[in-house]
Amino acid sequence: MTDVLIVGAGPAGMTAAIYARRAAKSVLVLEARSYGGQIVNTPDIENYPVEAHISGFDFATRLYEQAKALGAEFRFEKAVEIRVDGDVKTVVTPKNEYEAKTVIVATGSDPRKLGVEGEDRLVGRGVSYCATCDGAFFRKKTVAVVGGGNTAVEDALYLADLAEKVYLIHRREGFRADEATLKKLKARENVEFVLNATVTALHAEKRLTGIDVTDKDGNMRHIELNGLFAAVGRIPENQNFSQIIELDAAGYAVADESCRTKTPGVFVAGDNRTKDVRQLVTAAADGAVAASAAIKYLSE
Ligand code: NAP
Repeated sequence: MTDVLIVGAGPAGMTAAIYARRAAKSVLVLEARSYGGQIVNTPDIENYPVEAHISGFDFATRLYEQAKALGAEFRFEKAVEIRVDGDVKTVVTPKNEYEAKTVIVATGSDPRKLGVEGEDRLVGRGVSYCATCDGAFFRKKTVAVVGGGNTAVEDALYLADLAEKVYLIHRREGFRADEATLKKLKARENVEFVLNATVTALHAEKRLTGIDVTDKDGNMRHIELNGLFAAVGRIPENQNFSQIIELDAAGYAVADESCRTKTPGVFVAGDNRTKDVRQLVTAAADGAVAASAAIKYLSE
């Protein structure tokens, strides 16, 4: 029986693994995809203490190596259910069932879709949710990024270095993205802002060839392009655990700064938790807090 089973190998989960291992607890981390979570999509992290510049991939790899070196075990299996029977928690994957004394759910979030007809069919054929993964396919081409948060603005900046032209489409005039990053984007000559507008249609043959955007007055504009990057926020990945974790209306796991859930011995950490600030540094902080709470629970 594992002392601390962590679901999700993003910054929150892997930081929790480091803290739990340093307290000499046995640690198993289950990850559905590859380690790193959302941060691997960030080309350049500039706001993590001490490191002025580091790519998300390098950050994730160093964190993974640190947790492994401390003795955390990683298995790449998706947790589909957590059963709680008194002190024993059973985490179910399609291949196995793992018993643990405590569980930290650090599952992060999935990209939100635009909800435009044909979107799913065109993923990988012009529609993408990850600029750093797919941007290189659009070298010297025309692309659009949708969204007004940090992800959209950073994606547009990244693509502006590769593509001939980048449209930044946002449904209103105000941005959630921080001012410093937005200023950098505004200085790019090959970026055009299309504000107060949403994507209302996708045009494609085998691949995406263009989009229609409609502004708040109902005026429609056709834009010919090769790639469309949606960066309109994320959906927390808590759906499989709603029996043991209370979720708010948006699907976030309800827990305060102690990372405790309504189920004793089950904790949440990172972007899937209710909180005001979802940043790399707060995800890592959650990992430390959740692991400390789990360690305390084990000693009680
Ligand atoms: P976000 O901040 O929630 O922004 C999502 C954007 O998409 C918003 O501008 C929103 O518009 C727009 N949007 C939502 N649904 C839409 C729809 N159906 N159609 C069109 N537009 C839609 O998401 P994010 O940019 O992914 O960032 C998530 C969190 O990670 C944030 O806290 C962000 O600061 C953080 N982050 C930080 C960094 C960094 O520090 N380097 C990098 C990336 C992300 P409205 O504004 O009108 O709601």
